[in-house]
Amino acid sequence: MEESMKGLNAAQEEAVTSTEGFIRVIAGAGSGKTRALSQRFAYLVNEIGILPGNILCVTFTNKSANEMRQRIHHLTGDNDTGYICTFHSFCVSILQEDSNAVQYPKSFLVLDNSDIDAMLKIIYEERNLTLRNMTFSKARDMIEIRKISKEPEYYLDMITMSLDTLRQKYEEAVNPSDIIFYGYLYQEKKCFGLDYNDLIKFSLYIFQEEEEIRLKWQRRLEYIMIDEFQDIDDLQYRLMEVLCNHHKNLFIVGDPDQTIYTWRGANVKYLLDFDKEFPHVKTIMMMQNYRSTPQILSAANSLIEKNQSRIKKELLPTLPGGLPVLCHHADHSRAEALFIAVKIQELHEKGTPYRDMTILYRAHYITRTIEEIFLKEKIPYTIYSGVQFFGRMEIKDALSYLRMIAYKDDLSFLRIANVPKRNIGQRRLAFLQEYAAAKNCTLYDALIKNIENDIFKGTKAASFVALIESFAADYAERPISEVLSAILNESGYERMLRTEGSQERLDNLAELKQSVYEYETSCGEESTLEHYLTHIALFTNSDAEDRSDKVKLMTVHTAKGLEFPYVFLCAMNEGIFPSKKTNTLQAMEEERRLAFVAMTRAEKGLYLTEAEGRNFDGSPRYPSRFLLDIDETLLAYTQKPQDHLIAKAQDYINFNSRYLLDHSQGQHFARGQRIKHSIFGPGTIVEVDMEKAAYTIQFEKIETPRTITFRAKLEVLQG
Ligand code: ATP
Ligand code: MG
Repeated sequence: MEESMKGLNAAQEEAVTSTEGFIRVIAGAGSGKTRALSQRFAYLVNEIGILPGNILCVTFTNKSANEMRQRIHHLTGDNDTGYICTFHSFCVSILQEDSNAVQYPKSFLVLDNSDIDAMLKIIYEERNLTLRNMTFSKARDMIEIRKISKEPEYYLDMITMSLDTLRQKYEEAVNPSDIIFYGYLYQEKKCFGLDYNDLIKFSLYIFQEEEEIRLKWQRRLEYIMIDEFQDIDDLQYRLMEVLCNHHKNLFIVGDPDQTIYTWRGANVKYLLDFDKEFPHVKTIMMMQNYRSTPQILSAANSLIEKNQSRIKKELLPTLPGGLPVLCHHADHSRAEALFIAVKIQELHEKGTPYRDMTILYRAHYITRTIEEIFLKEKIPYTIYSGVQFFGRMEIKDALSYLRMIAYKDDLSFLRIANVPKRNIGQRRLAFLQEYAAAKNCTLYDALIKNIENDIFKGTKAASFVALIESFAADYAERPISEVLSAILNESGYERMLRTEGSQERLDNLAELKQSVYEYETSCGEESTLEHYLTHIALFTNSDAEDRSDKVKLMTVHTAKGLEFPYVFLCAMNEGIFPSKKTNTLQAMEEERRLAFVAMTRAEKGLYLTEAEGRNFDGSPRYPSRFLLDIDETLLAYTQKPQDHLIAKAQDYINFNSRYLLDHSQGQHFARGQRIKHSIFGPGTIVEVDMEKAAYTIQFEKIETPRTITFRAKLEVLQG
């Protein structure tokens, strides 16, 4: 047997060696899909002799991309690991090569939500809008929907219009939506910024308009592989269709039972209908599970069986028997947290490192009680979700300094020109903004041109300019890590934090420096500051790996695709998991899939915990229906909830199920879907509010979005 075939079963081997054409793997959690995918990469390189650079391997998160890259590096021994990335970061690669086709420089900026908010703030101030006109999050949604539904005009606006024309459209706009939309397009273009949607849409646009570029990429990608295919969305699917259309070698893997992103536009039909969309599809099933003990598996199987719309499939265990799945009912949430802490200490004393234990939950706020207890009990832990690492103030400031050196863009300028204090406050900024608008230049240029002006007397503006200029002159020749340390020091930023006594922020900066250093050493030649900045914008908290020995805390969504020796799935209560926002049968089935994903992360031990008490709205807390779904004989209890509590829970669940059925009459639509209302005519779904069981819809004929309940008869409009 070849080296790369070791440790694979027959189905996996078939998946690895079926290299040509369209191949689909449908298989359950922990059945070795991801493992087959990485072995297949190695097989293509080692056995067939394909260049890694001609393979695209798409993962769902940057974290799994990193893990996969390491595995492939280990299997092929090659430093060049080709394109192993998320759809978004692959688009960054496309645009870094070909953004000139849309007259964008290679050093475009990738914008995340906080960048977008910073732009919105400028627009709101300039045009006297308030959050009452539209909150930032609504404004972001509105922009997204307009971009998705109004093509190709949006591209014509964004790509072909000059900055002056965009500015003019912005100034001429009268209603808030238009002001915000054109204001945003203007701000984006001004700093050559692209948001996450733009990344995919610009790539698609380039492929559509420029045949040569499209052919170049199509020819380059001889093999395409996609993990977690059950959660692919429309735009990603379209991109994939284009990319595979030359060599026609496409390999996808997914599990319909793990679809957990329909609320964000994912559509499992792409996995299920794959064989109808592509010719001669070979479908491979994998039945054995290599991750979890039989006890964990049967409990998980028993749960997912309760979903109505589902293709039946059973996971067969391969591992020897282990501990039973243990349920714990606590009188209140502190007692629940304490139980978890005690179990963790027990396991730790028996030799299980903290890092092998993970706490999973449905919602972020659950961590507060657990954290309190862990602090008291001195259990080291790290939270993988919550405030995102790269979203933290000090990290954004540090990156803004780097961006300032490379791009001198307005967003970075606004963020750090007066941090630490340089006496460049509101009045002076307003002066610069006015000057920049009149002269059509950046704020930084405006500052340079006016540095001798009286208004900047008594400020540290000149030394700020000197600082940026000196770094701008030679950063290209220096390692990024060195540039970062130097600028944090010379700008006085770190001194400011030390004076404030913000040790935690200083620690985070140290972590950032470490990550820059690792980036440099892993990328070699490619590691320019511009590359680093473009890729960093795609990162999320879960990507900042913490290797020390700590218990991990994360949401179930974050845990997708991962595995952990011991899992504590906590706060299994009605109103928390399933979330109280669950208002339709379909949404309830997605919650159940989410619980299934959570349970199937566990390898050796699974603990399910819940507590009595009250929810935020004052309603009593009942054990989750997902606990009651599982066949009782498959669970062990430390302390069983009393019969009367179970009876009450059952009453509540029955009542809720009738309500769900009521709300689930009629069709269901996702964000971005075009529909037709019998009275208001055509429109686009801007938001789905599960709690109110209503859509927010932007109708073509009505200026402001309207709220329409699920009961209304809506017709699907294609395109
Ligand atoms: P998920 O649906 O959760 O993403 P998956 O199908 O991708 O799961 P993997 O993560 O690839 O599953 O594999 C689960 C575990 O089983 C891993 O630890 C992997 O190393 C192991 N494994 C996979 N295939 C085999 C095999 N043939 N023999 C032994 N162990 C295996
Ligand atoms: Mg996987």
